[in-house]
Amino acid sequence: FAKKAGENNFEVYNQDIKTQIEEFMNAKQLIKEALEKDEFIYFFQPYYSIIEDKIVGAEALIRIIKKNKIITPNFFIDYAEKSGVIVNIEEKMFKKINNFYRELQIPLSFNVSAVSFKNKEQLKKIFERVDVPITIELTEREVANNIKYTKEVFEFFKSKNFKIAIDDFGTGYSTFTYIKELNLDIVKIDMQFIKNIEHSSKDYALVKTIIILAKEFDLKVVAEGVENKKQLQILRDLGCDYIQGYLISKPLPLQEMKLFIKEFSGLH
Ligand code: C2E
Ligand code: MG
Ligand code: MG
Ligand code: MG
Repeated sequence: FAKKAGENNFEVYNQDIKTQIEEFMNAKQLIKEALEKDEFIYFFQPYYSIIEDKIVGAEALIRIIKKNKIITPNFFIDYAEKSGVIVNIEEKMFKKINNFYRELQIPLSFNVSAVSFKNKEQLKKIFERVDVPITIELTEREVANNIKYTKEVFEFFKSKNFKIAIDDFGTGYSTFTYIKELNLDIVKIDMQFIKNIEHSSKDYALVKTIIILAKEFDLKVVAEGVENKKQLQILRDLGCDYIQGYLISKPLPLQEMKLFIKEFSGLH
């Protein structure tokens, strides 16, 4: 059900909307309008536990919805981050976290941009009122600048019982420093290493090594972008904890995610 809905509604629209955006507006206008008209929404994509064979969480992924068309972040996230307007977008969305949790009733993950991450007072103000189990997803870029500052922010997150995930792991730098210095919970292996894992011995070796490293530090491992059972089998054999990807479900709107969680009865 979920996959079908995903294919029918979203992929096709992406193509349409691309030409539309290029013709009529740039990212700046698109975001301005979306903020004014309240067109930002989250889609949700499950975290699936290989060992438990069940959905154990979901990641919130931002979209713009315009006249029933869905616009994915690749059209606007770069501009949003570079211009700093992502802070306004995230503030707006993060205010709804408690509500999302009430609807979905599973731990939720949220991507926090570098710009938002830099402003500790703002972060505290927003997340102070979050009283549900969440994971904060950061890329290595977010934590890169200042380990001391990052530790302070992490202490705040920990005081709230939030978990912390490093996103797109393996694509950044200083990776080992973070693992050594910071109190992380989850490592998300970037999908570029997963997509050819069944054919590439190099990708296989990297993923295997990341998983061994993560285990040594008591971190959970999520593999992103898992699209087929062969990949799942390899990741299971390597001891990967969770997967995300089209094999389980594409990102879905809140109500569809709710239904998906309710109806999901395992992979076999
Ligand atoms: P991310 O956090 O690494 O999210 C994973 C991306 O991979 C998502 O793209 C998801 O739709 C896609 N994906 C998941 N499974 C598969 C699969 O099996 N195959 C393929 N080909 N792709 C898969 P999406 O939603 O377009 O988001 C792209 C990026 O935009 C995210 O990467 C994240 O860095 C950023 N982003 C999304 N929402 C937010 C947000 O609320 N705030 C910030 N700052 N960034 C966000
Ligand atoms: Mg993420
Ligand atoms: Mg990622
Ligand atoms: Mg990514």
